[in-house]
Amino acid sequence: MGKARSSEPVTVFPKEARSAFRKAILNWYDRNGRQLPWRVSADPYRIWLSEIMLQQTTVAAVVPYFERFSAECPDVATLAATPLDRVMRLWEGLGYYSRARNLHRAAQAIMTEFGGQIPEDLESLQSLPGIGRYTAGAVASFAFNRPAPIVEANTERLYARLMALPEDVRSTASQKRLWQFAEEIVPSSRAGDFNQALMDIGSQVCTPATPLCDDCPVRRWCRAASEGTQHEIPRRKARTAITPVCEVAIAIRYKDSWCLRRRSPEERWAGMWDFLRQEVPETTLSFLPSAQSGSKAPRKQPALFDHSPEFPRELHEMTQPYLIHPPGTVNRWTEFSYSVTRYKVRLAVLECVVDRRVKLPDNFCWAKVSDFEALPLSMTGRRIANWLVTE
Ligand code: SF4
Repeated sequence: MGKARSSEPVTVFPKEARSAFRKAILNWYDRNGRQLPWRVSADPYRIWLSEIMLQQTTVAAVVPYFERFSAECPDVATLAATPLDRVMRLWEGLGYYSRARNLHRAAQAIMTEFGGQIPEDLESLQSLPGIGRYTAGAVASFAFNRPAPIVEANTERLYARLMALPEDVRSTASQKRLWQFAEEIVPSSRAGDFNQALMDIGSQVCTPATPLCDDCPVRRWCRAASEGTQHEIPRRKARTAITPVCEVAIAIRYKDSWCLRRRSPEERWAGMWDFLRQEVPETTLSFLPSAQSGSKAPRKQPALFDHSPEFPRELHEMTQPYLIHPPGTVNRWTEFSYSVTRYKVRLAVLECVVDRRVKLPDNFCWAKVSDFEALPLSMTGRRIANWLVTE
């Protein structure tokens, strides 16, 4: 883009082109902007909630969660007063559960520190749990029309192509340039519409695999398109290899109740309820009969306490504190697979029936089918619960 004179600060977008660029973006938005549930008003609460939900999640996945959540918690005060378990239950299935915990904490902080009003300035917004630079910029511009810059996945790709950014887009130097670009282009009026337009252009026109350059409102300012490099940008370093992992979950059942454990703050899915679960070496699962997943009558029904060499030691250790009265048996089992970050997990689920209901430690409970509905479960915990009650 334009060459800066030595006496001026180095810019990444030429000043003389900014006005026409902004106009093209806003004209496009007036004709093509998406109608989304959180865009029907400039309510900062709805905007904040939607932005937190949209982190790492698609619009299509968020819409039903947003509708449900905002119907039950329509404002900051209601959210702050809602029990955390209920908030987690409303969030269940969206993933990245620290977002829900931070949202709840932030609502309480807004009530105590900001008189129940969501702050307008970037610094105050970023002082709240779960609000980083992007979310602060989105709330400040969408809700309050402040000229705040934004960089998220769609705008990152759009800016990178407009600049023909040559380096890994995640590098510190690239991020700095992207934020500088965003700061330089944001207008002082209609900043909210402008930023939403950039996100829409990124998601609908400047798409990852097949950018629609012929229909693009900013084609004339795009270096990647003029150089023919739009399919190579944004550049990224190769991803870390996927690591296979094995886990066992044990659903201990006594009559019509199953033993659940609340996951601790330092674990993944902190605060959610789950079945007893731990990572095991793949060999641990070799005692399971093959090709009978889900069967109610597996070929073998090893007694949990017979110390048979067929039943792995790790599983004895996992269940011993809760199964003091033998015998318990593996009643049925199944397997799921799921992916989390760079792990591909093979999860074996065993339902073990016991004949006494032992007293459980804190953070454990006996849950009936009717309790499953109210308790927030980890995503795979919900799959297990559904399998237990429907198979
Ligand atoms: Fe993206 Fe093509 Fe538009 Fe450039 S011209 S911003 S590559 S859609």
